[in-house]
Amino acid sequence: LAAEEGFDPDEVGDLGEAESGPLPVLAVVGRPNVGKSTLVNRIIGRREAVVEDRPGVTRDRVQYEAAWNGRRFKLVDTGGWEIDALGLDGLVAAQAELGIRSADAVLFVVDATVGATDTDEALVKLIRRSGKPVVLAANKVDGQQGEADAAMLWSLGLGEPFPVSALHGRGSGDLLDAVLDKLPQAPKQTFDGDQILGGPRRVALIGRPNVGKSSLLNKVAKEDRVVVNELAGTTRDPVDELITLGDKTWKFIDTAGIRRRVHQTAGADFYASLRTAAALEKAEVAVVLVDASETLAEQDTRIISMAVEAGRAVVIAYNKWDKIDEERRYYLEREIEQDLVQVQWAPRVNVSAKTGRHMEKLVPAIEAALEGWETRVPTARLNAFLGELVAAHPHPVRGGKQPRILFGTQAGTKPPRFVLFASGFIEAGYRRFIERRLREEFGFVGTPISISVRVRE
Ligand code: GDP
Ligand code: GDP
Repeated sequence: LAAEEGFDPDEVGDLGEAESGPLPVLAVVGRPNVGKSTLVNRIIGRREAVVEDRPGVTRDRVQYEAAWNGRRFKLVDTGGWEIDALGLDGLVAAQAELGIRSADAVLFVVDATVGATDTDEALVKLIRRSGKPVVLAANKVDGQQGEADAAMLWSLGLGEPFPVSALHGRGSGDLLDAVLDKLPQAPKQTFDGDQILGGPRRVALIGRPNVGKSSLLNKVAKEDRVVVNELAGTTRDPVDELITLGDKTWKFIDTAGIRRRVHQTAGADFYASLRTAAALEKAEVAVVLVDASETLAEQDTRIISMAVEAGRAVVIAYNKWDKIDEERRYYLEREIEQDLVQVQWAPRVNVSAKTGRHMEKLVPAIEAALEGWETRVPTARLNAFLGELVAAHPHPVRGGKQPRILFGTQAGTKPPRFVLFASGFIEAGYRRFIERRLREEFGFVGTPISISVRVRE
């Protein structure tokens, strides 16, 4: 999942557009060394980081221009002032106050590995007093491990902490989405800017050889192939292809690999598998093609598992539907029940690349899966749901004790990840039960979800 919410500097870049009005301003506030500069550099997509390993590097408040999803804003870095006679707290407060005063919203950065300190608490008071909207970044969450630390920062009372790793880019997409929610609207880009800055959604079309990948691709791309160069600002990547389906343009990953007939030589499987992994790495959603006219193969389930393990949204397309009769259909349903229970949540389309049957159902399925993949359940709603669930179906008593789910939060999206805090060990069966009920309640169509449990002593 390394690249999953990774931040692509190409998506922000320098816009070089004349300003058509004042841009909203975001102040980045936090104690020294929590990673403000690293985060600012991450957001503006520059590598010339003004980061040093010790606190107290002299630097003025610096303004940068940034953009996310086609919306531009100004970023004020309040960090890096020298510690002087004011003392640490006084100084941090003073610089934060200056930054906040000129801002439309505040990005408050806390080091999740350290937790909330007294200085952090003091800054919270200051931000509150300003009345400015605030987004809380729980920084230095370099891996899934740290997400529970981030959740502890709910205690600051600033709402949801967004786990990020300024250093690696993890989580910055979600964070920026939240920031933009708090900022007043900026002038939008013209020239189809949304598409370019946000980029077309990325689709990996995968499946074992001969299931019909290249036939399907030819069918959907028949008339609507977009010449990549026609879109301003996109760089040509010969292996990917932009295809307009419905009213949107989608980027199909590694179509060169799909179109090329791979010779069945020794090791071909291995290379096909590498290609699949590489395509999944770049994609947001996987359309897994299966030959419905043949018995499900171990290779089919393995490819589906690869997509799930890569944390991608998943759609399963059963191809060659023109070839199947009632009997085959009966057995196919049994095979799906038996071998694909783990992905019951994936939208299913029965298509024929040959006749074009149900091609129009592909896009709605892909969109549903992406929506599930990006779903965020507000914490209050999640906990109301967990409270009811735990009351109605308590965890079985073990060794005279009854472990309870105390509290939960959604730590991330793409795919949705939950952290639950419990009073004791939660059995695998009960975790699966919770996942099932989460899906019943909130949908999560087309997406894997992960649930990790932290036991609070
Ligand atoms: P500032 O003084 O608050 O602006 O913090 P800096 O950006 O200078 O970062 C302080 C230190 O924390 C530097 O050594 C950074 O490399 C490190 N750092 C920043 N962000 C992260 C992160 O996400 N993960 C880890 N592990 N270290 C980080
Ligand atoms: P790929 O290896 O996954 O790219 O599969 P191809 O697209 O090359 O298809 C393999 C074979 O299946 C070719 O002979 C296609 O004509 C055939 N084929 C693909 N889709 C369909 C379909 O929907 N119905 C039928 N009857 N044949 C299909």
